[in-house]
Amino acid sequence: MDRAIALRYELVMQTKTSIAGKRRFDVAVIGMGPAGAQAAVSAWHQGRDVLVLDAGEVSQRKGRAYWSKSVPLEDIPFVSPITGPRLRASVQERLRSLQPPAPGESGVTLRGAYVLRVSRGDGGFEIEASTKPLLRGEIAERETFAARALVVASGFEDGWPEIEVDPAGRRMLERYRTVFRYAGNGSGWHLCIRCDGHLHPGGHFALVGVGEEIYEAAIGAQDFAGRITILTNGRPHAFTPAVLAQAEARDIEIDTRPIVRHIGRGTELRGVQFADGEEFYADGFLADEGLEPNTGFLQDFDLWRSPDGLLRVGDSSEALRPDGSPEPGLFVAGDLVAGARKLIATAAASGQDAGLAASDSLRRWTYPD
Ligand SMILES: Cc1cc2nc3c(=O)[nH]c(=O)nc-3n(C[C@H](O)[C@H](O)[C@H](O)COP(=O)(O)OP(=O)(O)OC[C@H]3O[C@@H](n4cnc5c(N)ncnc54)[C@H](O)[C@@H]3O)c2cc1C
Repeated sequence: MDRAIALRYELVMQTKTSIAGKRRFDVAVIGMGPAGAQAAVSAWHQGRDVLVLDAGEVSQRKGRAYWSKSVPLEDIPFVSPITGPRLRASVQERLRSLQPPAPGESGVTLRGAYVLRVSRGDGGFEIEASTKPLLRGEIAERETFAARALVVASGFEDGWPEIEVDPAGRRMLERYRTVFRYAGNGSGWHLCIRCDGHLHPGGHFALVGVGEEIYEAAIGAQDFAGRITILTNGRPHAFTPAVLAQAEARDIEIDTRPIVRHIGRGTELRGVQFADGEEFYADGFLADEGLEPNTGFLQDFDLWRSPDGLLRVGDSSEALRPDGSPEPGLFVAGDLVAGARKLIATAAASGQDAGLAASDSLRRWTYPD
């Protein structure tokens, strides 16, 4: 056989086939939010065969970017103001248009899949996922995928205020059904003051949460609100004396009474009722009740995390181990990155870094030492 053909054959066999004879992608991306979608497009643009696994189709993990039901995202200059579900449809359409002409060739393969576990496989990663919605709470179909490099861009889930929560609800949507009714609308629950504060100019903002995070939200709310009230929902506020002194000087009210009920009409949240029966009304409501990183599938990896569980990354977007050394071939992007701003353009930018770094990690030779 011609030497060039033999070399090419060897390369194709080495790069496109896993031991199990299964197709092996160059780069797998977990998550189709702004970070994952950009990572996939950037890696595809470098000629890679990219797999995107996204939970949105098969689970309630829809992604933060696709949340806002009626409030258009308007701080992304590349698209006209657009609601979350429309943005999702447009991203999905774009990725589907990049389907590779043949398996192994450059392209993007998009699959609805909730990733359950990632492990080291032959020369890369094995990714086990649930590829159908749960059937009576059980996994209906499992598939395993293989890739040489991995970008994790699965974001996080926001914590929700414990108001009218169904303790028997097993899934998030069931558990927080009433809260969700008022979420993602112009006058509903907000989760990001920088994103939605502009909806209530000069209005009265109620912020639900405790500690440093909720006070940070109050600091952000000053750009928009005429009046700010912090509701701790029955918990101690956990503010330092300095914070308390500033809150008092700035006329920020702090109410620690437990909240028992929403007061709303349709999907519009108007107020809440305290346990003592008193009703409280405001123009905008924001919750900051912490977050849950979507990284359960990384249980086989010992990674360096921030106190809230987000992942520390190195200069080339690689996940770091607790000793600061990079986890080879595993890249992280978007909201999951510790210390990054939690915004769409930031997520897309880090997705581009991670997608290109993942692609570059597959090159056969580099600049000589
Ligand atoms: C209500 C709201 C309004 C916002 N408004 C704005 C705004 O106006 N402007 C702005 O810039 N930012 C806004 N943000 C912030 C912005 O949405 C996020 O910063 C951005 O979406 C982060 O992108 P990401 O790709 O990292 O994560 P996400 O957008 O959260 O996407 C994560 C993806 O990973 C998938 N996933 C999760 N778990 C798994 C799994 N196990 N297997 C497979 N896939 C999985 C999800 O399905 C999802 O598609 C808002 C956020 C919220 C919640």
